[in-house]
Amino acid sequence: MDKKTFRFTSTSVNYFFESGISHLKEVVDAKNAIILTDENVFAAHTKKFKNWNTIVLKPGEEYKIQGTVDSVIEQLIEMGADRQTTLIGIGGGVITDLAGYIASIYMRGISFGFIPTTLLSLVDASIGGKNGIDVGVYKNLVGAIKQPAFILQDLQFLNTLPEAEWQNGFAEIIKHACIKDAPMFRQLESHDLNFYIKNKREASSLIRRNVLIKTKVVMQDEFEKGDRKLLNFGHTLGHALENQYELSHGQSISIGMTYASELSRMLIGFKNAEKVPKVLEQYGLPTYALYDKDKVINVLKMDKKKEKDAINFILLEKIGKAVIEKIAIDQLYSTL
Ligand code: ADP
Ligand code: ZN
Repeated sequence: MDKKTFRFTSTSVNYFFESGISHLKEVVDAKNAIILTDENVFAAHTKKFKNWNTIVLKPGEEYKIQGTVDSVIEQLIEMGADRQTTLIGIGGGVITDLAGYIASIYMRGISFGFIPTTLLSLVDASIGGKNGIDVGVYKNLVGAIKQPAFILQDLQFLNTLPEAEWQNGFAEIIKHACIKDAPMFRQLESHDLNFYIKNKREASSLIRRNVLIKTKVVMQDEFEKGDRKLLNFGHTLGHALENQYELSHGQSISIGMTYASELSRMLIGFKNAEKVPKVLEQYGLPTYALYDKDKVINVLKMDKKKEKDAINFILLEKIGKAVIEKIAIDQLYSTL
């Protein structure tokens, strides 16, 4: 097992790279652990959960809500969970967000860890300690920032991951390349989705590279005062679209990144604006959508990144270098 420890503001997080669920018992005591997962992950990998206390939830973002939190808390009480219990989220971003949030509030906070099973949760959602739930159309409106005790990787889970979920994860990987890693952007340009789905070794090293990018950004700015904001590239418009249309997170931010690249060209002279949608398309992601401008603007007005009548927007100066620009909502409206 390849273990690395990363130091955050108030705690350290152990990462177990290229490990496997069979090593989980070396990390936590099974008697004091409860796994939270969803029906799809459980059905596809039932054997892996043998001998572990497990709560199985219905899959999907529509269950990332307070009602699910209440029902899990009731089950935790029934199972006798106490301050010695570790809650382990095994699943995609929905499960890791829920597990982190529930563990942050149950008995004012119990220990928790993750085994991310989607590409998106491996490279993004499981890292950085943000957790929470959606309220109505507002994504992640309620939550906390608390780091997990550990993140364990078992890439065998990816063997059953649907192609659409690979695309979702690549949206965040391309985002990382855009804001922080020009050489990785070129590498992504020279391959495509199928290459990584088929080539597990390449996928594994790409995953590690992205885990390290996100971890480094978060470690330097855990509470999003500065650089961590750059991770919101493509997410301002993306979230507004995701809330109102039947788009996945990856699809929404793909459209958001295309728009932000074009805006970067218009406002700060970004020269490679066309390269971003091109690489997104190589990974099966959409780059435009028909949407209702007024509806989208209304959601933008509730965005957590808003300050008075302006939004802190993430733009690209060049591939691999992002900047934060304050843009008036009126000006955004006219460019949508
Ligand atoms: P994310 O936010 O990471 O995209 P979700 O938690 O919404 O993730 O998961 C996306 C979908 O993929 C859900 O339907 C979930 O049940 C399913 N899923 C997660 N991991 C796997 C896996 N390893 N194999 C098959 N399906 C999975
Ligand atoms: Zn995202």
